[in-house]
Amino acid sequence: MKVNLLDFDRAALERFFASIDEKPWRARQVLRWIHQRGAADFDAMTDVAKSLRARLAETAEIRLPELAGDAVAADDTRKWLLKVDAANSVESVFIPEKGRGTLCMSSQAGCVLDCAFCSTGKQGFNRNLSSGEMVAQLWIANRALGRKQGAERPITNVVMMGMGEPLLNLDALIPALRLMLDDDAYGLSRRRVTVSTSGIIPGMDRLAEECPVALAVSLHAPDDELRERLVPVNRKYPIRDLLAACRRYLERAPRDFITFEYVMLDGVNDRDAQARELLRIAARVRCKFNLIPFNPFPGSSFRRSSPERIRAFAAVLQRAGLTVTTRKTRGDAIDAACGQLAGDVTDRTRRTARPARIPIVELNA
Ligand code: SAH
Ligand code: SF4
Repeated sequence: MKVNLLDFDRAALERFFASIDEKPWRARQVLRWIHQRGAADFDAMTDVAKSLRARLAETAEIRLPELAGDAVAADDTRKWLLKVDAANSVESVFIPEKGRGTLCMSSQAGCVLDCAFCSTGKQGFNRNLSSGEMVAQLWIANRALGRKQGAERPITNVVMMGMGEPLLNLDALIPALRLMLDDDAYGLSRRRVTVSTSGIIPGMDRLAEECPVALAVSLHAPDDELRERLVPVNRKYPIRDLLAACRRYLERAPRDFITFEYVMLDGVNDRDAQARELLRIAARVRCKFNLIPFNPFPGSSFRRSSPERIRAFAAVLQRAGLTVTTRKTRGDAIDAACGQLAGDVTDRTRRTARPARIPIVELNA
């Protein structure tokens, strides 16, 4: 099979060019054609020598997933469904805001981690996405959104907050991140690319080493007992170790704080006393909090905390001097909000055969 140039960051593309006896500097030209000008075939690359174009066409291609859906909500949030193979589709979402545009991207078809409140987790897991399948999400969004002459690029920020756990797919994630940061590709600043993790400690250490970008950690609970129920991987990586890993990450990070994400679940993790417990965590790591009102999906048993409860919870943190933002719910009619991205995943873990998850009553007790 031909190699997919979307899989290659600059270094890999240069190696590939060397392997076909071409000058590595030509890689730069091709990188720009693919990622900045949205070329999907070699004929379009008019300033590349014809002989090289012919050579490339024999051995390589720019292979994109099939676009299986494209929906725009009333608030201009836009969602794409990409069919990555016969059995799996993944989603990415563009969220326009004043002065910036954020693309939320997927890293896996499904997720093994099975967080209690997550639609992706409920679907089970099929496979990792390749670097090219991650980059394709950005390529497709970039092309669809167009770029007005002289205007800001439509996509100024990327968040790895779609389907999947990015730090369980680091081999593919890192080249994709490098292309996001490369000035000859997407040219985003490290501070504007955010990886969100449920707290995979070895992955955090490796990311810090190989490609430090902004980091968001899905905390969701102030103590191990509750966090284990909501984010089962906490059994492997408990809060204490997670906080130590956050501190290590900050030594390399482009920002001087970790963003803690905290999904607001009515009666489960949203009491004032729990906010006060979070202050003890905040005293140990430089952080900001991002409260995410829970987004229901078919079959979910949680309820979203009321706006008043969320405000009161935020106020406890703010009175202690913490920066707290509350995520606005966007793209409601097209199911594009956090945790609603489901795509279409063939579950190889046969999760449906497993016992039902913890009911909300038990969590309330
Ligand atoms: N696997 C990574 C990144 C993808 S999830 C992680 O867990 O961090 C991105 C964010 O959406 C996480 O903070 C996750 O906890 C949150 N999320 C998942 N399901 C949600 C839901 N139903 N409502 C609101 N947020 C949700
Ligand atoms: Fe996976 Fe993140 Fe969903 Fe948890 S919240 S199941 S880690 S995608």
